[in-house]
Amino acid sequence: MYSNKYIGYSAVFGKKDKHKTILIPWFTDFLSPLIPAIAELAGYKFVNCPKTSKTSAEIGLRYGNNEVCYPATLVLGDLIAELQTGKYDLNSVAVAVTQTGGQCRATNYLALIKQGLKNAGLGHIPTIAVAFGSVYQNEQEGFRLPVFKIFNIMLHAFFFGDILNQIFSATVVREKEKGKSQQLFDFYMEEARKIVLENKHRKLLKLLENAVADFNLIEIEDKKPEKVGLIGEIFVKYNSYGQAHITDWLREQGMEVETPPMTGFFMQAFVNQAVNRRNGVNRISRLMLKLFPLFYRFLNNRLKKFEQIARQSRFYMPHESIFETAEHAKQIIDLANQFGEGWMIAGEVANFARRGVNRAVCIQPFGCIANHVVAKGIERRLKQFYPEMNLLYLDIDGGMAEVNLHNRLHFLIR
Ligand code: SF4
Repeated sequence: MYSNKYIGYSAVFGKKDKHKTILIPWFTDFLSPLIPAIAELAGYKFVNCPKTSKTSAEIGLRYGNNEVCYPATLVLGDLIAELQTGKYDLNSVAVAVTQTGGQCRATNYLALIKQGLKNAGLGHIPTIAVAFGSVYQNEQEGFRLPVFKIFNIMLHAFFFGDILNQIFSATVVREKEKGKSQQLFDFYMEEARKIVLENKHRKLLKLLENAVADFNLIEIEDKKPEKVGLIGEIFVKYNSYGQAHITDWLREQGMEVETPPMTGFFMQAFVNQAVNRRNGVNRISRLMLKLFPLFYRFLNNRLKKFEQIARQSRFYMPHESIFETAEHAKQIIDLANQFGEGWMIAGEVANFARRGVNRAVCIQPFGCIANHVVAKGIERRLKQFYPEMNLLYLDIDGGMAEVNLHNRLHFLIR
């Protein structure tokens, strides 16, 4: 039996706290700017912390447990650094993180943050786990997401940002006038933010059409850049500082960086629940058994609308469905491996190889046992299936020497 109570941290987000400013850590350029707008629709004032930086790493290490994984350190550092700026009335502020509840340290983020806040003398600040379902070990009576009100806009905003990022990524490395793609990307993220505030989800489809048309007008160099895949742990993969700006560096070397869309990370739940049920790990009611495929179809139909528009983009490459990715992955590793990025790593490498992308970087944060075990553990088997594949595993932490990182990347791309 779980309890909502977490003994040892007395600050709770009660009904009277709804007006409080809620700080959230920066995650990624293609989603974070839209989150406060979605929260506003839900009746909450979310404020993004500034983009993750060296300060986040230093402060996270100072107040956190230095044995936790690197993303947890950065998230904690983002929050405490922002709280220490003096910009906020510390009696009218709360902090929030998403609760993935994964079979890794992600399950313990809230406890880590509470301890870090206490260490920094900020133990009176309430914490929130942003989740639709049940939240364990955190009292947050004052926080309820109005699912029906925000679900559609949230879903569309997610697909919009994810696909805009793919289009941006393919164009930026080819552009003649440096900065043009970034300008368009920023413009369309801001337009998307305004649409989210209107809660008109269909308008995001039209906005993507316009974005595709504008990206298609960007003048490009007369060259075909070589591709390199980027996979690994979700936070470091999509957070520029978290991945030590590897993507930017590779682009400066003229490489096109292909990072799989984030959609797959969430869609894997449809594969995982079936696998877990077959393995006797999860029990599921008959009703849910019927609802799961319907829900998948619903999400997939929405996604397809965005993908159809994206296909008009000059360089957009359609991505494999999560079930295709799982089919490829299970030749390499059992799909029961769901901790960290689990079997997704095998599936994504397989997808790259089948598309002729034969170089991939797998980034793994310090302290992430889950990804180290799965990713490095399958190297030999991946090589058996895809002998042409050149895989580089990079460990990332707050104290690494960039020159070392770049040196190893040089060997991969030369
Ligand atoms: S996957 Fe690894 S890095 Fe990410 S939260 Fe879990 S333990 Fe930490």
